[in-house]
Formats: sequence, C-alpha cells, structure tokens
Amino acid sequence: MPGGRHHLQIPGPTNVPERVLRALAAPTIDHRGPEFAALALDLLERLKPVFGTRGPVIVYPSSGTGAWEAALVNTLSPGDRVLACETGHFATLWRDMAERLGLRVEFLPGDWRHGADPDAIGARLAADRGHDVAAVMVVHNETSTGVRSRVADVRAAMDRAGHPALLLVDTISSLASMDYGHDEWGVDVTVGCSQKGLMLPPGLGFNAVSGKALDAARTARLPRSYWDWEPILAANRDGHFPYTPPTNLLYGLREALALLEEEGLPAVFARHDRHAAATRSAVRAWGLDILCADPREYSSSLTAVLLPEPYDAGKVRRVILERFDMSLGTGLGRLAGRVFRIGHLGHFDDLSLAGTLCGVEMGLAAAGVPIERGGVTAALTSLEAS
Ligand code: PLP
Repeated sequence: MPGGRHHLQIPGPTNVPERVLRALAAPTIDHRGPEFAALALDLLERLKPVFGTRGPVIVYPSSGTGAWEAALVNTLSPGDRVLACETGHFATLWRDMAERLGLRVEFLPGDWRHGADPDAIGARLAADRGHDVAAVMVVHNETSTGVRSRVADVRAAMDRAGHPALLLVDTISSLASMDYGHDEWGVDVTVGCSQKGLMLPPGLGFNAVSGKALDAARTARLPRSYWDWEPILAANRDGHFPYTPPTNLLYGLREALALLEEEGLPAVFARHDRHAAATRSAVRAWGLDILCADPREYSSSLTAVLLPEPYDAGKVRRVILERFDMSLGTGLGRLAGRVFRIGHLGHFDDLSLAGTLCGVEMGLAAAGVPIERGGVTAALTSLEAS
C-alpha cells in the first residue's frame, strides 16, 4: 500500500470525525444509573429534528436491516398486503424480508434508474377499493443507484387516492445528508441507521414513528420481541432501555449530533447538494453517464457512474484501491460490474471531494476507460461558482 491515509469513499460506512472517535473512547458507564439516563433522555430529544419529527425515535443496537425488520413487525400482521417499489438492490432486499416475514408483497416494477413512481403508487391504491394494502414501502435514497425517491409526492398521491395505508420509508443513506421531513411528509415509520450521514460506526438502527404507526402496533400480529417498540418506549420514558444499550455508540451519537447542530441541518443539506452537483459536473466532463435518469431524483449523498460496455467497473475500483488506497462503492445486484459509486456524504468537505475525484479520474485512465480529461477541473469550477 502507498503511504498516507485510506480514503473511504463508499456511500457508508463513512469517515468518522476525530471528535466522534474520541467521544467513543470514553469509559462505559452503568446503563441503569442516573448519568446514563441523562445521556439517553438528551439524545432521544436531539435525534428528533434529524428525522424532522416531534414524535418518538426508537434506537436499536442494530444495523439498518434490523431497523427495517422492526418497522415491519411492529405495524403489520401475517398475510397483510404491502406495496413495495423496485428502485434498486436495497428496495429488493427489503421486499425479500417482507416476504420472508409472511407478508404478501406486490412489487411495483422499476428500472433501477428512477425513484418510486408516485403516479403508479397512487393508481394502484386508487384501484384498491377494499383498502387491502396495509402499507407502502419506499427507499428514500436508493444507495445502489444514487436515486432519490420523491417521498412528499408519494404521500400526496396516497392522499389523493384517499387510501389509509401506512407509509414506511427507508432513509438509511439520506438521514442527516438530505432534506427529510418525517412529520411534514406524513411518513409513518422512518428507518435509519448510524454509519452514513450521522458519521458514526455501524451499530445503531432507528425507527421514527407516527401516532398512526403506534396505533397500528397495538393490533399488529407479526411475532416480535426484541424489536417491540412498546417496552422500549416504556423504558425510554426515564432514560433507560429494556436491554443493555450500546453506551459508547451513544457517546459518539452525542458528539455527532453536536457537529450537526453546530453546522445547522440546512447547511449540512446544502453542503451535500453542492458536492453532489460538483461530482455530476465531473462525471459529465469525463463523458460518462450518471445512472440516475431524472434530474429531479439525483441523490446528494452518492453518485453512481455507469460505464460503457465492455468496461468493467470492478476493475476500476480495484485499480483505484491498489494505486490510491481509496475505496469506492461496488455495483450491487444487477449493476455488478456496470457501475461504481462515489460516496460524498457525512464528514466531507471541498478538498475531500477534490481528492476523491482526482483518484477517480486517474483510476479511470489507469484502468483503460476512455474518458475526456477535465472532470476534476469541471468539479472545481462548479464548487467555485456555488
Ligand atoms: N437500506 C439502504 C438504503 C442501505 O443503503 C443499506 C445499507 O447500505 C441498508 C438498507 C441495510 O443496512 P445495513 O447494511 O446497515 O443492515
């Protein structure tokens, strides 16, 4: 390996800031004592603005997948019909999970270059006169494709159809990076986790829940124990958990929230938008395609770059790792070998972006992909102008 540091530019886990790393290293304390209760009560309040909610946010010691499961098992019953939207690899995995849990899943087809289609969702729900569909599942930011679904438009389509289905949204790779409004958009369960925009290591999963979702949980019959919201919310009232919580990750969360509060969420979102726009300028200048086909749906936390046939995106990633010690996101599922993904989220600034794009431009050339040079310059120009 060359000298210098590793460049972790996958779309999560992301780089953990020094301040958060130092916070993680504090001694673990008694999770049933008063110091822990003060920490938990403070965090449970300060998490709410990150989700755009005044309601409760449930924290699990889990990856995002656990928080997906929690969203389903707390609100649904065996045999319930749910509508999922094929936006990419993660939407497909969430669909598979719902099927394994015994739900009847209808998968609205997609081409992995667009977000969930509000019109198609609205039309399907309008046709469901018996209100058989219990929930709609949408991935806000599809990490495998770099496409953002228009959740507010999905909610508007559901309202126009006058349909009572719950709206379950995965914000795993958009939380604390892209504008998100759990309350404003009428989302019932928002699924998040720690290792992306929150700048923490993996290990925390989140559910933000609406009053309607809490009502649904009273009658939902899918088996649940560890994921059950009710005992967690009861214990949280005085700052405790019904099991041993991940104390040190919560120290890290306190510091990560402080970083977000110091910068201000609107500025955090604007920073991500700006870096995403500069990255797209680079990709266009190289003469390559952005996988996301609709400019309204560009992700601000990552950009997936589509390579022309017969070039292998896996080779580009390998060359970049070997020569420049930089990790880029791989092509997932049906996109294997076709795309690589540039993560520009979390603890990230102009010079991190410039370095990342230099590595990509040199790596594309070294891997023999025919590109126009000048992508980095185009990105710098975009940064200077914004
Ligand atoms: N959903 C999305 C959009 C993701 O990007 C990921 C992981 O990258 C997951 C779900 C699964 O989360 P985890 O790997 O933390 O279980």
